[in-house]
Parts: sequence; C-alpha cells; structure tokens
Amino acid sequence: MSASTALAPHAASLPPAFSDRPSRAVIDLDALRHNYRLARGRHGGRALAALKADAYGHGDVACARALAPLADGFAVAFLAEAHALRAAGIAAPILILEGCFSAEELVAAHAMDCWVVAHQESQLRAIEAHPELAGLNVWLKVDSGMRRAGFLPADVRDAHRRLAACPQVARLTLMTHFARADEPGVPATADQIACFEAATAGLAGERSLANSAGVLGWPAARGDWARPGILLYGADPMPLPDAALRPVMTLESAVFAVRDLQPGDALGYGGRFVADAPCRVGLVAIGYADGYPRTVPTGTPVLVGEQSSRIVGRVSMDLLTVDLTHLPEAGIGSRVELWGPRVPINLVAAAAGTISYELLCHVRRVPRMYVGGTGG
Ligand SMILES: *Cc1c(COP(=O)(O)O)cnc(C)c1O
Repeated sequence: MSASTALAPHAASLPPAFSDRPSRAVIDLDALRHNYRLARGRHGGRALAALKADAYGHGDVACARALAPLADGFAVAFLAEAHALRAAGIAAPILILEGCFSAEELVAAHAMDCWVVAHQESQLRAIEAHPELAGLNVWLKVDSGMRRAGFLPADVRDAHRRLAACPQVARLTLMTHFARADEPGVPATADQIACFEAATAGLAGERSLANSAGVLGWPAARGDWARPGILLYGADPMPLPDAALRPVMTLESAVFAVRDLQPGDALGYGGRFVADAPCRVGLVAIGYADGYPRTVPTGTPVLVGEQSSRIVGRVSMDLLTVDLTHLPEAGIGSRVELWGPRVPINLVAAAAGTISYELLCHVRRVPRMYVGGTGG
C-alpha cells in the first residue's frame, strides 16, 4: 500500500498525538477504485458512484477525490451533500437522488451545476416555474414497482412531455430503482425491468436502472448509467459473495486489558455470558458508540492477531470483549479486526440483524486513516 495516511477532517478534533486509543477505520482507496472499475466494467456504459451518507461512512470528500480521475460522476441524496463536495472543489457531475425539496433548492442546485431527479409533481412545477435555469439535467424517476418515489407508469409520458417542453431542460434521463435486486430467485426485478421498459418505450433520453445489486445480478438491467453504491465499498449485496470485490473499510482496534474468568463468572452488562470453564477474555477499545452494533450475540466473528475468535458477552458503549481462551499468545496490544478483508462485514451485519449499509453508515468517533493514495 502506498503512503498517504491523511486523517479525515472530522478526525481533526482527535489529534493522534493526544490519542493513543488504538481504534480506527482504515479506508483503502485502491480497493475503492478497483471496485468502481469492476462496477463500470460489469455494467458497461457509465457509472455514477453513490457517495451519499458521507460515502456510506467512508468520507465523501476523500472518496470523491480518489474516484475523480476515473468516475463518470457522483450521486448524493440531497443538496447539502452535493454542497459539501462542491465546497471541497469536486467539479464532476453530481446527481441529487431525492431531487429538490423546494424551488429555492432547485435554483441552488442549478447554481452548483448539479443534476436533479424529478420524482413527483411538485418538482415538475418547480422546474416549469424557472425557465431561466438554462442547461438543467433532469432525471425523471419512474416507479416501476417499488411503490416508493417516482411517477406511476401511466403518468410517465405526460411528465416526460412537460419536461421536454421546457427549454431550460437540456438533458432528460429516465431512471428507476429496484426493491429486490439482491434476491436473485424472485421475479420482482424482472417485472420492474419490463414495467420500466414498457412505461418509457419510445421516449427520448438515456436510461438508468441498476444499483449495486442490479449491476451484479441483473444483466437485463443494463442501461446507459449505473448507480452503484454499496459494491464500491466492497460489501456484496448478493447472497453469494463475489470474490472480485475488495473490502474498503477495515474497522480495527486492539486488546487493552485481559481478564481471567472462573466457571460461573458472568461477564459484562446483563451477565449475558457466563463462563462454564476457566477462560481468558480480552477487552477491546471499541464499542457501540463507535458504530460496532450492540445487538450482536456471543459468537460473532472477530480476528485477533492472525486468528479467528469471537465476541463474548454484551457490547458496551466504549469497549467489547473477545474470547482469548484458545489464543495464549494474544494479549495486551493484540490487533483486533472487527470487519474488513478478514472478517466479512456481511457476517457481522447478519449477526446484528441488519445489513452492511447500516453498519458502515454508523461508524463514528473513530479516526479514519486513508491508505492507497489519493490519485488515480
Ligand atoms: C442509494 C441509491 C443507489 C445505490 O444503491 P446501492 O444498493 O448502495 O448500490 C442507487 N440509486 C438510488 C436511487 C439510491 O437511492
């Protein structure tokens, strides 16, 4: 790995010189670029890298800078997220996935040279009411079956006609979003693709259908533009893991104390783990306030040094406990990987009853350390 190890701006309040707490999120920007190339290659056409929610917890500005030389553009959820990227000097196209919440936001989005989604009537009206916003790039969203945001298939032609009649709309792209593309066995995605194609047949404009699961699992979802998110970060949304993806974030810490338990000793809050034999437990300097999920049970995988181990007892706010009974050489200072290349985040998410997306977005209070360089 190459040298760059700049701390994220949010970590500036934790000067390393004053914090020897060994917990951090290491972000591998080479892996991010690798995954972007893979997404673009699998899909064909162009790909907007989804950087919403602070790049799924990886740092939006750092990820944007790392991807800028190769990405076709970026996608964020709302205007303030786009503003953060523009303020950092990111000049690439940025699509605002939720569109604008008001006509004032539309004016601001235009001033920031952002592309906007239009998924409902109020957004059409805002566009129609501002003929002076020359060069608008609008993505008309079709509800092809998710029943969340988007124009119903029966209303798409009319919405398209109205936008096409606005001289300020320079480009019009047709998009839809999948509800169940991470489930290869169910017909919902094929139905959505067919619905989208029927609703948009003959309408002018480029097409965008695929999120990460669409890129990985649904060749029929190919369009002009993909919108991959989670796969860029190396977390596979499909049930069968794709070995080509590289995890980007390693959440790591270290053992800072060791305790011996006797049979009958109950460990931690709630006494949830009771030793049935003598055992050795390591205290690790990371907890649910850092984003490691409190809900995981005893047995959830972790890596201690080079060896597999497990969480024991309940995760606390500032620390958690791991089993060292079978690892006599492990002790104070042993590195612990909570998730990353050696501990698939999907296993931790499943143990917590959630998905990788939520775990990644919730990482906080730990400094981020970037490796892999920032250039192309
Ligand atoms: C978040 C989002 C994406 C990216 O989804 P992933 O499952 O992370 O690939 C794509 N399109 C839209 C509209 C989104 O909101």
